[in-house]
Amino acid sequence: MSNLPILIIGGGIGGLSVALALAQKGQRVHVLEKAPEFGEIGYGIQMGPNVSRMLDRLGVLKALELHSVFPDALRLIDAIDNREITRIALGNSFLERYQYRYFVIHRRDLHGEILEACKRREEITLEASRGLISFEDHGNSVLARCENGAEYEGAALIGADGLWSPTRAAIVGDGAPRVAGHVTYRGVVPTDEIIDRSHLDSMTIWVGPDLHLVQYRLRGGAVMNNVATVSSRRFRRGERDFGGLDELDEVFSRADPRVRDMLRYISRDRNWVLHDREPVTNWSRGRATLLGDAAHPTLQYLAQGANMAIEDGVVLAEKVAAAEGDFSRAFLAYQRERMNRTARVVLSSRFFGEYIHADSGARELRNELARRRDPENPWEVDWLYRGIEVDGRL
Ligand SMILES: Cc1cc2nc3c(=O)[nH]c(=O)nc-3n(C[C@H](O)[C@H](O)[C@H](O)COP(=O)(O)OP(=O)(O)OC[C@H]3O[C@@H](n4cnc5c(N)ncnc54)[C@H](O)[C@@H]3O)c2cc1C
Repeated sequence: MSNLPILIIGGGIGGLSVALALAQKGQRVHVLEKAPEFGEIGYGIQMGPNVSRMLDRLGVLKALELHSVFPDALRLIDAIDNREITRIALGNSFLERYQYRYFVIHRRDLHGEILEACKRREEITLEASRGLISFEDHGNSVLARCENGAEYEGAALIGADGLWSPTRAAIVGDGAPRVAGHVTYRGVVPTDEIIDRSHLDSMTIWVGPDLHLVQYRLRGGAVMNNVATVSSRRFRRGERDFGGLDELDEVFSRADPRVRDMLRYISRDRNWVLHDREPVTNWSRGRATLLGDAAHPTLQYLAQGANMAIEDGVVLAEKVAAAEGDFSRAFLAYQRERMNRTARVVLSSRFFGEYIHADSGARELRNELARRRDPENPWEVDWLYRGIEVDGRL
């Protein structure tokens, strides 16, 4: 291993996971985070059994379980008539099939536990207020320059700097991410405030024409996470001003009154315009590579963006350890292994976006086929939830 640390740009869920995975292999790393503090936004996140497996390897799963909620099912309900269409049961047969559970957690708890684990490792240095502006690959080392004028020499560089990654701009150079035309609003409220309490134990998605609403509990059930999304017709018509509160209310006006009423749990002061990118095959170059949203940003319809970032980190650490200092070989091997799985997540997420937002005949067909599903057999996501092999074992 080189005496120089690997520089990790970005200390989000992806950056900290790869820091921890590399430290476990004995590799020194230096994480440079642009924000004044390491942190996450205050909403929920879903974690599939594929990532529970990775978090177990990273040694943080037990700590995370203390903050987690384990829903009994993923329920799909038609937002127009409020009738359940199908569900994935998350009980014993799910656990038997995948060996790990599906859980939901507050992002700050997830990020916080990984951050604490990083702080306990002497191989890891964490520095905030260090926004990368550029880097150079010198062949046997890399040099990173930050906004405040600070420079860092590293053995290699990993861009875990998210959707708007400057590292990606330097390596891939494919411009801005794709605007999907979907806009999300979120809100977390005390569970006591929830009026319709019929789905408290599940991860529930109400789906309808150009809309969906997700609900699940967090923090031992004390609070309810709510996410409302519209697929904007105004965007499809080419209008620049789309996805505002007026369009949210207009699209949800077709939903059952009980679904419409749930918009009361959403904060109306901020929204997220959703993006992804076409999958690429060239996100590693020389001693630099990308990870997580910087490499393969995805829509949230499989709830796998952060899951993929964490898987990336574990695989990347395995390849670095195996390549014994040959970082370009390690990064190409990592990219080769991650490319198709992450591309499948990106493209399948687009499909699931269409599927849940279906209208008219497509909605009827979806509901009829989905009602015939066996809730104990989630074949559509089996390839995903079975997880990946690392170091020759699942
Ligand atoms: C509505 C919604 C719901 C979602 N739900 C789920 C879900 O249920 N499950 C799931 O797995 N995923 C989900 N995702 C996706 C998930 O949030 C992202 O995929 C994940 O956070 C990506 O992690 P990351 O570490 O790659 O990037 P980020 O979380 O974006 O972290 C990037 C970090 O880099 C820092 N940074 C940026 N620029 C620089 C720079 N120049 N120098 C230094 N640091 C920099 C940033 O400050 C940040 O800390 C959802 C996304 C959305 C929008």
